[in-house]
Amino acid sequence: PAAAPSDLDRLQVLGHGNGGTVYKVRHKRTDKIFALKVVHGDQVFREMEILRRTDSPFVVQCHGVFEKPSGDIAMVMEYMDAGTLDTLLQKKWTFSEQKLAHIAAQILKGLSYLHAHKIIHRDIKPSNLLVNSHMQVKISDFGVSKIMCRSLDACNSYVGTCAYMSPERFDPETYGGNYNGYAGDIWSLGLTLLELYLGHFPFLQPGQRPDWATLMCAICFGDPPSLPDGVSEEFRSFIECCLQKESSKRWTASQLLNHPFLGKDLRSE
Ligand code: ATP
Ligand code: MG
Repeated sequence: PAAAPSDLDRLQVLGHGNGGTVYKVRHKRTDKIFALKVVHGDQVFREMEILRRTDSPFVVQCHGVFEKPSGDIAMVMEYMDAGTLDTLLQKKWTFSEQKLAHIAAQILKGLSYLHAHKIIHRDIKPSNLLVNSHMQVKISDFGVSKIMCRSLDACNSYVGTCAYMSPERFDPETYGGNYNGYAGDIWSLGLTLLELYLGHFPFLQPGQRPDWATLMCAICFGDPPSLPDGVSEEFRSFIECCLQKESSKRWTASQLLNHPFLGKDLRSE
């Protein structure tokens, strides 16, 4: 039985986005903690639909959706007590290869679940990957996702955060190959892992402000970003498999789940 918004006490704001506001809330009767996302606008319906359809330990769980008299939509979600991978980046966390393998494996399990259900996330980035204190990582924020209906429903519209967009989203003729949108999520995953390792967004120097034209040129015309010296061959290869500019050469989520880099997750620290 889902908790209705009137059963919930708002404790604090967890974050604001384009879509709306996320609160930390307490269920009055059980004292359980949840996250409540209150959104307005029409993107909401897709997000609701996706959260309702998905049931995976690697995708944030939704306990209920309510329409408020104001027309706003409130979604009760499981609370992730460590924030997002972006929160950890801002706290200057350092991510060892082993930690990254653990993070990568979870995101890939989430992506392979979504892709198998014909859902393209389209906005994979550190601030949309929730974390809890058990170091569980879950995919969230389906505000710009797409449910693929039938064959080639191209989805190269400008949605999501441009910085994490793959070359074929800017230039499908050159990099689109066998175009399906799923590979775009893998590019964004590769950039995200590289950012966690480097501590800054790969196409920019630390502190450098993004300039969209330069960034887009770097993504489309430059070499893909890569790891510095000193990392393992497995890690280097894994990032290369994600950051192939030609989308058809990029590995799929289920292929990457068998990449040797993920074996590092099993070894002890
Ligand atoms: P953005 O435009 O920054 O991506 P958004 O409107 O798309 O934001 P979300 O990404 O869903 O909204 O949430 C905004 C922020 O709220 C997140 O970056 C995170 O810090 C926090 N948040 C969202 N959901 C949860 C949750 N289930 N548990 C804990 N914190 C959450
Ligand atoms: Mg978000």
